[in-house]
Amino acid sequence: MSLFHKAAFFKSAAASQDLPASVGEIAFAGRSNAGKSSAINALSGSRIAFVSKTPGRTRLVNFYTLGAERFLVDLPGYGYARIPNATQASWGNFLGEYLRTRAPLCGLAVIMDVRHPLTPLDHMLLRWFSPGGKPVHVLLTKADKLSRAAAIKILRQVEGEIAALAPNFSVQLFSSLKGSGLEEAERVFRGWLECTRTAPALPGDEMKTPGHDRGSGNKNPRAIRGNQPGANALRFKAPRSGRRSGRRPKSPTA
Ligand code: GDP
Repeated sequence: MSLFHKAAFFKSAAASQDLPASVGEIAFAGRSNAGKSSAINALSGSRIAFVSKTPGRTRLVNFYTLGAERFLVDLPGYGYARIPNATQASWGNFLGEYLRTRAPLCGLAVIMDVRHPLTPLDHMLLRWFSPGGKPVHVLLTKADKLSRAAAIKILRQVEGEIAALAPNFSVQLFSSLKGSGLEEAERVFRGWLECTRTAPALPGDEMKTPGHDRGSGNKNPRAIRGNQPGANALRFKAPRSGRRSGRRPKSPTA
């Protein structure tokens, strides 16, 4: 059975002090409406994440337990402009700190609509995350919206671009609607979670060999850099409370 089929809602976090104790987790990020909630639902085999046709509705960092102190973490989508600047700033701080310093974070899944891959904000997230040395796996989702040939062409382009960013960045085609790409994604994510093999065994994991680390960890020799420029410019989805400020954040994109 898929590791993710055990996923069940655990808790939501709005600030660092809300983060649960964990020995390994995979965070899911992506531009609003790219298909992140649908991808999480497809992986888990149930509708655990909220799916909306309206961008900007996921409000908190949601932790889904996989058992054995491992988690799947649903981050708020970014690139959603209709959010008060002060709210964006505080969320940017929290999420930036989470991605930069969260020790149990094994890797980052980045969801992109195959028809609009590598937007400026996606690029910024990847460039900003890469110095930590942790792996990224990009799901080019909604692949069912393109012909196979067109989807493969985009896959090759994105492969080339992200390979230039870090050797442990990878990409695949995915469709939540058709369920295509599920096995490949599960294989990658399970491999990442195996990097936590000194912790309690993963549920259903029968092939844990000491010294066999397929994963991730901080193999990239580049050290984690603090305060990378632009980190807070990622506009994550956040609560729509509060008044809108007239000033727009210093983001490279509109
Ligand atoms: P999120 O904002 O990134 O969480 O995006 P959602 O998962 O809510 O999806 C946004 C919209 O895209 C919804 O209308 C989904 O039904 C649709 N969608 C998501 N994944 C797919 C997919 O693989 N194929 C197709 N055709 N539509 C998808």
